[in-house]
Amino acid sequence: MDKKTGVVLLAGGKGTRMHNKVQKQYLPLAGKPLIVHSLEAFERSQADDIILVAGAGETGRIRHEIVEYFGFQKVSAVVEGGKERYHSVYAGLSALKNCDYVLIHDGARPLVTDAIISRVIQGAREYGACVAGMPVKDTMKMTDGDGFAAGTPERSRMWQIQTPQAFAYPLIRRAYDWLMEEECRQTGITDDAMVLEAYGGCRIKLVEGSYTNLKVTTPEDMVVAEALLARGEW
Ligand code: C5P
Repeated sequence: MDKKTGVVLLAGGKGTRMHNKVQKQYLPLAGKPLIVHSLEAFERSQADDIILVAGAGETGRIRHEIVEYFGFQKVSAVVEGGKERYHSVYAGLSALKNCDYVLIHDGARPLVTDAIISRVIQGAREYGACVAGMPVKDTMKMTDGDGFAAGTPERSRMWQIQTPQAFAYPLIRRAYDWLMEEECRQTGITDDAMVLEAYGGCRIKLVEGSYTNLKVTTPEDMVVAEALLARGEW
């Protein structure tokens, strides 16, 4: 039987760093709301089922103005997220039914490509856990928290990590169940691979994302995303 693949698409953040009255997921980007770009990519993909995670009080609006208006067929539920990103991921994972693999993606990365989605699905099938990323271009430094350098990791071994991140569903579900129980001891969880690393039990394969698979966080990111989309390669 064919393996079933689900997607947790996150749009539950507040987007405060955009400094805009309009919430980030609705900001127009190349003529359509930002969140529509990644929804289209997953709708086109081999994924069977998409759970869209919205901010508090936003589920009705996202369902009507995005899912119904643009006619997305694979979105099986729109659920409310939580305070931190990992709460939103957990809400999405809990809403997925009978799924063998899951892709978790930041809705704030509208430039995700079909090729990246295929690579992480392939990696999850082969290794159980696979995330998109790219080798860093700049030298990285740890800071001591007081504005001074506290060490320089070897640049050739450093990757910046993106989404989508893909996992065998039972594996990431167990890791997240554990996180929710141990939550009081966890801080600074910023991606899903970190949860699996803390829980243990599986090596995480890194595959190439793209330098253009940027996360729209601050207003200048919109300018860059518009310019990239105008090249018409998506
Ligand atoms: O804040 P950060 O840049 O880590 O957000 C990454 C993604 O996670 C964004 O798409 C954002 O909408 C989502 N998020 C969420 N729920 C939160 C915080 C962030 O769905 N509580």
